[in-house]
Amino acid sequence: MIKAGVIGYPVKHSLSPRIHNYWLKKYNIKGSYDAIEVHPDNLKGFLVSMIKNGFSGVNVTIPHKEKVLEILNNAADPFAKFIGAVNTIIIKDKNFICTNTDFIGFSRNVIEKEPEFDFSEGKAVVIGAGGAARAVIFALLSLNVPEIIIVNRTREKSEIIKTKAIKNFQVADKKILVAEWKNISEILKNASLLVNTTSLGMVGQNKLEIDLSNLPKTALVNDIVYNPLETKLLKTAKLRGNKVVDGLGMLLHQAAPGFEAWFGVRPEIDDNLRKFVLEGLVKK
Ligand code: NAP
Repeated sequence: MIKAGVIGYPVKHSLSPRIHNYWLKKYNIKGSYDAIEVHPDNLKGFLVSMIKNGFSGVNVTIPHKEKVLEILNNAADPFAKFIGAVNTIIIKDKNFICTNTDFIGFSRNVIEKEPEFDFSEGKAVVIGAGGAARAVIFALLSLNVPEIIIVNRTREKSEIIKTKAIKNFQVADKKILVAEWKNISEILKNASLLVNTTSLGMVGQNKLEIDLSNLPKTALVNDIVYNPLETKLLKTAKLRGNKVVDGLGMLLHQAAPGFEAWFGVRPEIDDNLRKFVLEGLVKK
């Protein structure tokens, strides 16, 4: 029986078991996907024992994403290394492969929801410079966005992303700009895409309060926060006529590559799955 799961500490908040068990049932696969609480002190021991314990792989969630990259750095692919975090471990022929699928989740979500959107058309503004921002920025670079402006409360983190992108991917210096938080409203002028990658707007967090009046009505707005599904940012953007994409699809699409690698089936992201995962959110 194929064995996978998600490791975190705590881990019971994770929606991954809901997603993967939906697919295991849908495709009638004899496999298991469990939430596994791994104390930070036991992380290395857990990783070392994975092969012996018959795991095909695991997803990795907070607080282990960065630490796994550190421990299994030799097995990490360039995506995980640029993003600075591992969210998926695959074991093939007793070898580890560590990757980060958030950039795939981001791209597929936006492309699926707004297939007409042309990433190469204009500049993208990314709010935030944490792990998720790095995944989104990597995706935007792959999608040939002509200019990316990063704005984060802690400016230095934006600068680090820019430096790393130039070093790792030979990105032209003028392709990524770093802006001050207090200038958010100003930099929205001429933007084609606005993405919130901060945790602001998430249930239990402060709202993301930004003035959208300079944002062109033709711009697409994406919030990667998925709880609540319609954040204040998306609500405000929608009211003024912008097209919006919520963050749930990113969560579902980032899960698919791991499932395919472990269980051998490329899973479909269908409306029933969305409904099922949303029900799980309500209960949390
Ligand atoms: P992270 O690495 O901890 O980064 C958090 C980001 O939020 C940083 O840019 C941080 O700014 C900013 N931030 C937090 N509190 C703030 C405040 N009060 N004012 C201004 N900025 C603030 O977290 P992450 O992994 O990037 O995740 C960020 C969000 O994305 C979370 O809500 C997470 O659930 C969501 N996410 C969604 C998906 C999906 O599949 N849809 C995937 C990954 C993450 P500083 O640098 O200044 O601290």
